[in-house]
Parts: sequence; structure tokens; C-alpha cells
Amino acid sequence: MPVDTALAAVFHAPGQPLTIDAFPIPKINQGETLVRIRCATICGSDLHTRTGRRNSPSPSVLGHEMVGDIVATDTSFHPGDRITWSMVWSCGACDNCLRGLHSKCDHLYKFGHAAITPTSHFTGGFAQYCLLPAGTAIFKIPDNIPDPVASIANCATATVAAVLRKASPIKGQTIVILGAGMLGLTACAMAKHQGAKEVFAIDTDPQRQALATQFGASLNPQQNSAHVVLDFTGNPDAMEQGIQYLRTAAAFILAGAVFPSRPIELPAEQIVRKCLRIEGVHNYSPNDLAAALDFLAATTYNFETLIEGHYSLNEINEAFAFAHSHKPPRVAIYPNEKQ
Ligand SMILES: [Zn+2]
Ligand SMILES: [Zn+2]
Repeated sequence: MPVDTALAAVFHAPGQPLTIDAFPIPKINQGETLVRIRCATICGSDLHTRTGRRNSPSPSVLGHEMVGDIVATDTSFHPGDRITWSMVWSCGACDNCLRGLHSKCDHLYKFGHAAITPTSHFTGGFAQYCLLPAGTAIFKIPDNIPDPVASIANCATATVAAVLRKASPIKGQTIVILGAGMLGLTACAMAKHQGAKEVFAIDTDPQRQALATQFGASLNPQQNSAHVVLDFTGNPDAMEQGIQYLRTAAAFILAGAVFPSRPIELPAEQIVRKCLRIEGVHNYSPNDLAAALDFLAATTYNFETLIEGHYSLNEINEAFAFAHSHKPPRVAIYPNEKQ
């Protein structure tokens, strides 16, 4: 009997175009879910993998920000449900999971980051299907969240939810946000949503900084004014400058430095005298994705304006070229359209 196949965009090596290849559509086993992808967005880390700045296994199917419809499932969800899921699969049983650190699970699996094997191809968002292993944290998407906005939930929005959870309390506080890309803009809007008194955004790109004012941010924070400073740049210069905004007993949360860079210089005397708290956040827990969806369903800020392009899977190399040349916060791919 012939096996039905579907398409996936395969990453081979930095600098090389992705190829569109056909693979057998998998059958589900115990606890698994098969999803037909509606939309996937290109995250900054996909761009860095493509250029080689970031190391990633290959060949692989990139894309970890996506939304789809359930085709078949052995869970309590149903075929036809429009869902997102945690981009980080965690076991729930190891020491880190039991301490609530799901994002640092000893058996971590990340969609869009695993090498394909002869029996496993649909592991990322830039494909017509994705197979979710047993135990994946799945969430139904509220009807009022459009597909491209739902796509960003399980990377950008959920990560910001984790950062704000670590930075809490937010209500009534002054927040300074370094970097006004998708995560920084999301942080501006979510901090306002959580009742921040004032949110300031800083970006070296004047256009992005101006965009932040449409997501609740003010400009030009004063020194020693912030209860919380959040870094989404990963840029050592920006992080060093961010320290000046911290008031006494403030929190400095670092979330942008996911690539190796030069060490930053920290004024130890200020850390001590001002009783500062400095913490890192990487990835998120399933509860943060739930919080992200609640926020996207409730927010009045228009995230759809941050997602540009409407590319089919066959046009994925054009989509990456557009993302590199125009640098919109996100570019959208619709793998099951216009093939
Ligand atoms: Zn991402
Ligand atoms: Zn674990």
C-alpha cells in the first residue's frame, strides 16, 4: 500500500538553502499527537542557525513557533482542535523538573532543534505536519487569537511570561526593557498588562524604539529609577549600560545573552550597596505558555502588525532572505497553503 507523504523544509548546513523534501506522514503511537501546521514564524534563533552563528544539529527541520490543527491524537484533546504546545518537552520526573525547572530538564527535547532520523522527520514548524511525543504540554488556542499571533506564543510570548514571573512583582513598578525586538515589545505590553506603573524601552535602532511606544513604552528612563531591568539584547554594552537604571533592591533579569559574547563588567560595589538581584532566565515552563495565551487573548495591543510576509513552504528561502534584509520582528510561513 502506498504511504502518504507530506513536505518539510530541511536545514543541511549554515549558508545553504533549505530543501523541500517529502517524508511519510507518521502514524501516532501511545500518547502522541499529529498536528497539521497552519502557520509558523521565523524566530531570531532560526536566522542565527541558518547563518551559523548558532550551532544546531543537522539535517533538521527548523521552526519552533507554530500553530496547527490536531489530525490524530491519543490524548484528551480532539481532532480539529487548534493548538499550540510547549517548544520545550520535559520529562516531569528528573531532579530539575521536580524543582519546577522544566526548561532545564535532564531529558529536554526542543521542537525545531533536533536532527531528523530515518524514522523521525516532522520535528519542527517549517513542515506540513508535526508529531508531538507523549507528554508534550498542549494548549487549545482561544478563538480570538489569529494564527500568526498564536505562532509566537510558544517562544517569544511564553519566554517573556517566564521573565516577568522571575522579575515579579510587576504591578505598580517601574520597568526598563533593553531591546525592542519581538521579546522586548512583548515585554512592554505584558508588563503594562500586569499593572506596571511605567515601562521604558531602549533600543539602538530608533525605528524599533519608536515602535515600542505603540506597545505601552515610554522613552528616556532616569538613572536609579527602575525596580526591574530586563535585558533581551544579549549585547554586553547594553547590559553594562542597563545597570545604571537599577534603584535600590532592584532586579536585573538577563534573558537575551543566548550566544557566547565577551564577559560583562559588573560594578560589585553597587551590587552590594544597592542590594541588587541579578538572575538569568532561559526558556520557560508549561504554565508560562498558558499565561502567554491568556495575555494574547486579552491584550488590546496589535501584535499582528509585527508579523510580516505570507510565504508558502516552497518559498521558505525567500522568507528567510526577507527576514534578513528587512528585519521585521517576525515573518510568517503557511506550510499547507499554495503548494
Ligand atoms: Zn525562538
Ligand atoms: Zn525532566
